[in-house]
Amino acid sequence: MSWLPLLVKASYFAAALLFILGIKRMSSPVTARSGIRWAGVGMLIATLATFATPGLHNMPLILAAVVLGTAVAWWSGKRVAMTDMPQMVALYNGLGGGSAAAIGAVELLRYSDLGVAPSQTVLVLAVAGALIGSIALTGSVIAWAKLDGRLDKRFTFPGQQAFNALVFLAAVGLGVFTVLGLQQPVIIGFFVAALAVGILMTLPIGGADMPVVISLYNALTGLAVAFEGYVLQNEALIIAGMVVGAAGTMLTQLMAKAMNRSIASVLFGSFGATGEAKEIAGAQKPIEAGDVAAMMAYAERVVIVPGYGMAVAQAQHKVWELTQALIKRGVKVKFAIHPVAGRMPGHMNVLLAEAGVPYDLIADMDDINPEFPTTDVSLVIGANDVVNPVAKTDPSSPIYGMPILDVSLSKNTIVIKRGKGTGFAGIENALFYADNTRMLYGDGAAAVAGLIAELKSVDGGH
Ligand code: NAP
Repeated sequence: MSWLPLLVKASYFAAALLFILGIKRMSSPVTARSGIRWAGVGMLIATLATFATPGLHNMPLILAAVVLGTAVAWWSGKRVAMTDMPQMVALYNGLGGGSAAAIGAVELLRYSDLGVAPSQTVLVLAVAGALIGSIALTGSVIAWAKLDGRLDKRFTFPGQQAFNALVFLAAVGLGVFTVLGLQQPVIIGFFVAALAVGILMTLPIGGADMPVVISLYNALTGLAVAFEGYVLQNEALIIAGMVVGAAGTMLTQLMAKAMNRSIASVLFGSFGATGEAKEIAGAQKPIEAGDVAAMMAYAERVVIVPGYGMAVAQAQHKVWELTQALIKRGVKVKFAIHPVAGRMPGHMNVLLAEAGVPYDLIADMDDINPEFPTTDVSLVIGANDVVNPVAKTDPSSPIYGMPILDVSLSKNTIVIKRGKGTGFAGIENALFYADNTRMLYGDGAAAVAGLIAELKSVDGGH
């Protein structure tokens, strides 16, 4: 039947269109949900079309894998906490890289049995895809372990970068010999070295840089999938891989820029470990909920700055309730979002959208920063590093140069956090010691609930 291959190709084309249009829709929170669905439908079409490919073997095994994979993904996706999302992304991304590497392994061992490959290009791409996919697999697993607190410390030893470079060169060398000779022991050695590279290069990277590293491995996974797609002559894999590779590369660059880090310094430098930050003078000054409520009730403009602590406390619903109460009193309220607030890009936007906050109240860093000097009260909820003025004032600070929200310029600042805990970068925050800053200690959700209650009693709630 000659129409079947044509139908498969047409389905792949439709899937590719859905991937690209889906990603386009993800660029705005208004259309993001439907974007995810479009890309999902594309993936379904591509998967179904693959079953129609002529000459497919091992159908029961393939079906068992699909059912098992779907069940595990459904179960884990449903129960994962929003704050654990980066870990899940790391694991799933690693599995993508592992799948690409597995395709490379199967094909290389098959060529080795046959004693010949379809072409030199196919062979080179199979090896390149396997190398990148293996690095993405083991690197992502280490990143997951670090993010999940299972591997705490950065693992360093003298001469580490030189040793890592040697192992990398060994992997590349064995890859070249694989292309030249297709000897099974060489192929196995190549995979061992490639898998080791992923582990070794991720071990010394600090926890604060992990999300950037995961995004980088995500881009590598895309590239590996595209290469192996060429090996299998599967258009859907090539296009999906290229889309993931390009999107992952852009995301990596954006995140690194928002943290004022270069990709090279993430991979080969250190963060949060060097630099003797200056001592901060003064003391943190506590305040009662009643005083904060009165301050906000009579304010003209309030800016709410959410951070990782709001996600931990799941305070977004209460925050929106407070916002509505303030708006009802005629207060102008806006939300200020830093590009790396929380633990993944868009973390705060997702939470606020979940609580029902309208998009026109949410402002990006560059848009809101000029408005802080005319803001009466900035309410910081569980944000720390992204509002730390030392990023601008202390060249010896490890976060020096990172763009921040200029909260310290507002007339009054209220900070809600549980105690004296530091943020991701593990450093003191000069904002908390400023003359016009007051600390409202407590869990994010409970503290905001307290503010809502107090607001009701400010001149009878009107
Ligand atoms: P942060 O600097 O990690 O600070 C979070 C603060 O929330 C802590 O100081 C903590 O203080 C407080 N907190 C924790 N649980 C709380 C609760 N239940 N209620 C109230 N407060 C709570 O957060 P951020 O300002 O959002 O900054 C994000 C950091 O992550 C940056 O360093 C950024 O570079 C890094 N990062 C983010 C991304 C990303 O994609 N978003 C990627 C890479 C790195 P207490 O313990 O005293 O409560």
